[in-house]
Amino acid sequence: MSFEIKDRDLLARIGRLQTKGGVIETPLLLPVINPTIQLISPKTMENTFDCKAIITNAYIIRKHFQEKAVEKGIHDFLDFTGVVMTDSGAYQILEYGEIEITAKEIALYQERIDTDIATILDTPTGWTTSRNHAQHTIKETLKAAKELKKIKSRDDIVWVGPIQGGQHLNLVAQSAREMGKLPIQIHALGSPTPVMEQYMFDTLVDMIITAKMNLPLERPLHLFGAGHPFMFALAVALGCDLFDSAAYAIYAREERYMTEYGTTKLNQLSYFTCPCPACVNNSPQDFLDMPETEKQKTLAQHNLYVSFSEIRRIKQAITEGRLWEHLEMRAHGHPSLLQALKRLRKYSRYLEKNSPITKKSGLFFFGSLGQIRPEVVRHRKRLLERYSPPKEGKILVLLPQTPMKPFHRSKEHQKIVREIEQEFGCKAHNIHVCTYAAPFGIIPTELDEVYPLSQYEIVTPLDLETMNYAAQQMAKYIMATDYEKVILFWDTSLWKRKIVASCRRACKNRNIPLMIVQLKTPLGQKVFEDLATSLEHFFEDVNLNPTTSKINENKMI
Ligand SMILES: [Zn+2]
Repeated sequence: MSFEIKDRDLLARIGRLQTKGGVIETPLLLPVINPTIQLISPKTMENTFDCKAIITNAYIIRKHFQEKAVEKGIHDFLDFTGVVMTDSGAYQILEYGEIEITAKEIALYQERIDTDIATILDTPTGWTTSRNHAQHTIKETLKAAKELKKIKSRDDIVWVGPIQGGQHLNLVAQSAREMGKLPIQIHALGSPTPVMEQYMFDTLVDMIITAKMNLPLERPLHLFGAGHPFMFALAVALGCDLFDSAAYAIYAREERYMTEYGTTKLNQLSYFTCPCPACVNNSPQDFLDMPETEKQKTLAQHNLYVSFSEIRRIKQAITEGRLWEHLEMRAHGHPSLLQALKRLRKYSRYLEKNSPITKKSGLFFFGSLGQIRPEVVRHRKRLLERYSPPKEGKILVLLPQTPMKPFHRSKEHQKIVREIEQEFGCKAHNIHVCTYAAPFGIIPTELDEVYPLSQYEIVTPLDLETMNYAAQQMAKYIMATDYEKVILFWDTSLWKRKIVASCRRACKNRNIPLMIVQLKTPLGQKVFEDLATSLEHFFEDVNLNPTTSKINENKMI
């Protein structure tokens, strides 16, 4: 097996996973095929939906068909030429307690039916499980994974090693660490039923990130039981590469119509907005009037179209470097998803560390959620940990963001900088100009063309949280540097008093003067005169090699 990463955004990746049954591109959705009941046959999946891989349950196949599947091989048996992944029966353990099969038997059976991707018989943790029991499930699953080496008789099958631990995050971490040391090619995380049914996506974020943090990143991660398109973007952004979906069929049986935003009961729909072949020539009433089997089948087809199309949309977003924007749009489809996105704040440093540095596109900031983005965290880190202002910069001049970027090319900034240079001649190099801009905070002029500091758009008026964040970054910057005076050009039309208060507090802490120049449009000459006077006093006070510019002399008089 090989897993080659072609493109990345956030923790998401577009990868090429090679198996003996062919190469599949991830992120990939594998529809669940129930070998005993099929609303949509594997052949139709392949021909109509261009489905490259399916997942089925080796335990159920063995129970109902035994040697028949071995004789034909799983591909012929299911009539599917793409990649076949098999699950091992763990779900049945969870549902019925015990199953009458050993890990060795089900491993060998998966080899004998010639599956492409096989799963070791794991012991699922479940949800309402004590810590002790969770520990037991980890131990049992690891035992089965370790035994695999002795049991297996062929090397061309890709093996999946599931991670256990449920809601006990430190156990998820332990399970991932131990499983990651074994020669397993793919890992899998179960998304327990309550997490999906009760939309506990913030908990899912905790579980996925905990697993990712402790697994070898180069191995693909499968998310079991997460088959609803409205949360694919979240799971992919967190680094899940494979999904299985039984939901398309289960929902169809319950007359539930999937959309990228959620689910609606068929009888509550007045219109179809989906352009898929199942919907385009039908109305919700047409669906309701269909005979039962046809209705379920058509609804399942629609559900599949929506699911596959969302995966393609996510892949396109990864390619464009716009996964965050896509994720934010999806997160606004349901409060629980937005809550999950907010949970990412807790992991923003991890996200930053593992996200690509540059992208092909600029960034769109729609509100305070944008502070979680890797690019914002990266700028904060760089500025506070690795950046030093120019040595001769004694006075920090803070200019507000302008609609034009890079900021130093805007006419507003150029005017102020020109005035400063004219007024102070060679002393101007003692002045260091920075821009304060949402959401980044402080942007030193010499960096303002570095990606993405001039390649982004933000919504104005700014929301309070975004403003507070910028104010906080301004204060941190002042505290971390050695300027001897700060001059804040306060754009009162965009920024509230909070930035003034923050700068004032930081300057007070450092015991340095702060001068505030309220910016009005257009900037009057008086502003520069006041500034000149103030700076002149300052230069005298700190004795910075004062020069005798004629203008200044005149002003002193
Ligand atoms: Zn449709």
